[in-house]
Amino acid sequence: MLPNHSVPAERRRSWAEPYRIKMVELLKMTTPAERRVALEAAGYNTFLLRSDDVYIDLLTDSGTSAMSDAQWAGMMRGDEAYAGSRNFYGLESAVQARYGYRYVVPTHQGRGAEHLISRILISPGDVVPGNMYFTTTRLHQELAGATFVDVIIDQAHDPESLYPFKGNIDLDKFRELIDRVGAKKIPYISVAATVNMAGGQPISMENIRQVSQLARQHGIRVILDATRAIENAWFIKQREAGFADRSIASILLEMCSYTDGCTMSGKKDLLVNIGGFLALNDWEVFEEARNLVVVYEGLHTYGGLSGRDMEAMAIGIEEALNEDHIRARIGQVEYLGQQLIQAGIPIVLPVGGHAIYLDARSFLPHVPQDEFPAQSLAAELYLEAGIRAMERGVISAGRNLQTGQHNYPKLELVRLTIPRRVYTQAHMDVTAESVINLYERREAIGGLKMIYEPKYLRFFQARFEPVAVGTSREKRGEYADPQEA
Ligand SMILES: *Cc1c(COP(=O)(O)O)cnc(C)c1O
Repeated sequence: MLPNHSVPAERRRSWAEPYRIKMVELLKMTTPAERRVALEAAGYNTFLLRSDDVYIDLLTDSGTSAMSDAQWAGMMRGDEAYAGSRNFYGLESAVQARYGYRYVVPTHQGRGAEHLISRILISPGDVVPGNMYFTTTRLHQELAGATFVDVIIDQAHDPESLYPFKGNIDLDKFRELIDRVGAKKIPYISVAATVNMAGGQPISMENIRQVSQLARQHGIRVILDATRAIENAWFIKQREAGFADRSIASILLEMCSYTDGCTMSGKKDLLVNIGGFLALNDWEVFEEARNLVVVYEGLHTYGGLSGRDMEAMAIGIEEALNEDHIRARIGQVEYLGQQLIQAGIPIVLPVGGHAIYLDARSFLPHVPQDEFPAQSLAAELYLEAGIRAMERGVISAGRNLQTGQHNYPKLELVRLTIPRRVYTQAHMDVTAESVINLYERREAIGGLKMIYEPKYLRFFQARFEPVAVGTSREKRGEYADPQEA
């Protein structure tokens, strides 16, 4: 008998992709001179670059996944009936089977679901706790009249803490909040898995269970932000005692079972370019959502999506739960992270599910925070190699509405976000090499000054100009007091 050389999937160390490439999208390779022109035209803001001028686009993992041949074939089965599209019923069954909720309302993307649930559950003056904020989630809670309170554990704010579940909720903070404002003022707790703004960090099953128990004792609902819950399930399987032999699908179902509903951006875990849903267990809340979705998104059997979009998302649910897929997805992020760690590049640890975060504060200690080190580093990375990343620092944190001063966040980060099934291992190598090159010449990288500042969400459209390197050096040093952002 021939020896069996096949290695069981669970013992394989490589994260190699469980797919092959059938169609490619050609990229433009640019020269440094061309990139200089493009960056100046974009005011040193990577959001203002044209996609055509970008080689490796790590701006976001949202809506940037590559769909499979099965998903594209599903697009051809789109039933574009105004009412009762068969693709809606397929999506509904997939959500019920895989996430375990009873009722499903499709929405055009995650924020559509956030809008509906915030309007339904929140009364003005309410308080909504959560494990660190997400921009759109918090904004919808605030627009509905609530105040957001961060109850994530302290380790989440420390880029060097190796705690395995930095997305966990601090039960004492949650309990203290209930005691302080009263359970009646807390319509629900918002639980994100994974936590995007903390670096794609997971929450443990034990923590979800305990949060749910405490919330239910007080009649408080638990609403899951399930955008990257499948990636979270992978971390539970890897890191939490008792889950190594469980399937990702069963872990996901158990996570959802401790919650009363979820908002979902299908643009992340579910491998589609557009789509989302709100899922619920409570008939009355569902009734309200079904009424409201007609006003803001579309009829309750399409919610702002075409039939083909719903079909692609239903297929995406199955593909996202495939263990080889998730191993490769997170394996690729980890691969890039390990290359940077080995080269001594300061990044947020441990490596999260969807992105690597460069610690711009340690990377460019000579650039003061009001010369925007993360913005500058993102611009330099584009100049270096045509790689587009995103600033997550003082520019993203905006200004204090009362004092007009910048909010100075503790973390000055550049996010390298990895789209799913899009880039190869060689692209990751180029990215690591480019970051390492930058690190080697970091002393020569100066700060920026803002020459145009929009009123809202300034990071999208602000424009900058380089500050002469000598100037930065003289102002070396002091960061303002760390504070929340
Ligand atoms: C992207 C995202 C959302 C919002 O979803 P959209 O589809 O962009 O509207 C909500 N929560 C988290 C954690 C996200 O990453």
